[in-house]
Amino acid sequence: MKLFTVGPTEMFEETLMTSSKQLPYFRTEEFSEIVLETSKMLKKLLYTNETSEIVYITGSGTAAMESLVSNSFDSNDKLLIINGGTFGKRFVDITTIYNIPFATIDLEYGEVLEKRHFDNIDLHSFTALLVNIDETSTGQLYDINLLSKICKDNNLDLIVDAISSFLADELYMDKHNISSVILSSQKALALSPGLSILAISKDFYERKIKNKKPINLYLNINEHIKNLTRGQTPNTPAVGIILELHNRLKNIKKAEDEIERVKKNALYFRNKIKNYNLNIPDFPLSNALTPIILPNNNAKEVFEYLKNNYGIFVNPTGGPLSDKTIRIAHIGNLEERDYDMLLEKISEVL
Ligand SMILES: *Cc1c(COP(=O)(O)O)cnc(C)c1O
Repeated sequence: MKLFTVGPTEMFEETLMTSSKQLPYFRTEEFSEIVLETSKMLKKLLYTNETSEIVYITGSGTAAMESLVSNSFDSNDKLLIINGGTFGKRFVDITTIYNIPFATIDLEYGEVLEKRHFDNIDLHSFTALLVNIDETSTGQLYDINLLSKICKDNNLDLIVDAISSFLADELYMDKHNISSVILSSQKALALSPGLSILAISKDFYERKIKNKKPINLYLNINEHIKNLTRGQTPNTPAVGIILELHNRLKNIKKAEDEIERVKKNALYFRNKIKNYNLNIPDFPLSNALTPIILPNNNAKEVFEYLKNNYGIFVNPTGGPLSDKTIRIAHIGNLEERDYDMLLEKISEVL
């Protein structure tokens, strides 16, 4: 089996070895130590300072998105949401459920997010901007420098869902003035699904979260932060995935190294498909994945053929492009020869 999907992604040998072992009991000093060390490594890879908070939520990425939005914002806020695909829509849905006022910038498929989209918006009336920096459903990578500047100039908190982009594209939490970054285990981190992570700046935490009355229990950030000062979580965490995460981060010395590795895969693949009857969209792409446009509208056939004949998984695409495009991941344990193999098999069914 080989996964060219964005999540779960092809896991590294060491991760698989870690996940095959008996899990330890977790209310111990030893486990606390692992959690605290993991938080330290995450802060370094996110380029944020020691005072930022790291929160572990047992649940997929959506749980962390919901936790952050519901614990930080209320009817006194107004959120601006970049709605450019499935995951932008998820922010819209969460914000709607919690009755938080919001407006959206809606993007058509392929429409590049630019400064002009903000020109007719009264930015001062908003309190925060929510963005999925790689909108994984399309592969568009939004311009973090543009968004960071807009937020800074207009005094908005910048909330970045970097679930598929972390360790695939450059992201500097402090330099980009990001109030919170949302991560999840099964995408670029290439771990088992089921653990999501919030990195929260000290200022944002104290201003927007710390003094709020709780409106939920399992997703309550204050409860988590109280426990995490001693390296513990309020509930039983995904012990195994935390051990996978600790192991994986220990093997990444610098974020740049991992970004470079993923980028090299992406460029290799994008260059190589020029030899085939395949196209890629012309909007800015995350290094995490490449959407490819098939000439014969047979995306479902390609997906089934690869799965049934070779145990190869590629990502189907939802919505109006479901017949036309499949998405190929560059995150996870993949290398150049995997793409040679993939393209050979795809060409059989083209
Ligand atoms: C995968 C993903 C999520 C979360 O999806 P889950 O299935 O809940 O893990 C959120 N945002 C983005 C950008 C994603 O790629």
